[in-house]
Amino acid sequence: MSQLEFSTLPLNPALLDNLNSLGYTEMTAIQAKALPHTLHGKDVIAQGKTGSGKTAVFGLTQLQKLDVKRFCVQSLVLCPTRELADQVAKELRKLARTIHNIKVLTLCGGMPFGPQIGSLEHGAHIVVGTPGRIEEHVRKGTLKLENVNTLVLDEADRMLEMGFQDSLDTIIGYIPNERQSLLFSATYPDEIQDIATRIMQRPLLVKVESTH
Ligand code: ADP
Ligand code: MG
Repeated sequence: MSQLEFSTLPLNPALLDNLNSLGYTEMTAIQAKALPHTLHGKDVIAQGKTGSGKTAVFGLTQLQKLDVKRFCVQSLVLCPTRELADQVAKELRKLARTIHNIKVLTLCGGMPFGPQIGSLEHGAHIVVGTPGRIEEHVRKGTLKLENVNTLVLDEADRMLEMGFQDSLDTIIGYIPNERQSLLFSATYPDEIQDIATRIMQRPLLVKVESTH
């Protein structure tokens, strides 16, 4: 059996079957390096170019841990833009399609508040959104983060470039300290190291140069 097969990982059969049916035969380089650690609950900083398969690293980690019977937000993914949040939500729903009744909700700026509040009242397991709008919901009390056990900062370098530092700090202040934090970035400037030091616990740095 190849070292790159998903079946080498401690993933539940429903997730493995789905990966098969999606045609994900082998892990990408970043998946092979990061998933054995993230699936054991470790905090990980993963640095890799666009297209290296980072979404499945956090997606599979979240989905493996998630308790669908507990209808509360257990996982929060922060992305720099609405387009990226939509892409992530789409990929998560694809990875989760063998898990019944799972709800992935996107909450982004530039969209009306009313329907978002309605969706939050119906509940969700995973929320994907942009920092500004997530911060607003958290401050209003329309989004509760007290059950979040996985925090993902996707494209963290871009979020910092866009000036979301304060929003990120506010949001993270509402998430229990006992959590797994995963940070994804195409680059690894000092600002990323600083935020990682503040919000993560003994993070492992995983880096790949090429996409495969
Ligand atoms: P990144 O976030 O690193 O830019 P994505 O997570 O968006 O990359 O993945 C890029 C593309 O590769 C997506 O279309 C995704 O469905 C696909 N993909 C991810 N992992 C695998 C895999 N192991 N096998 C085949 N395709 C994959
Ligand atoms: Mg990505």
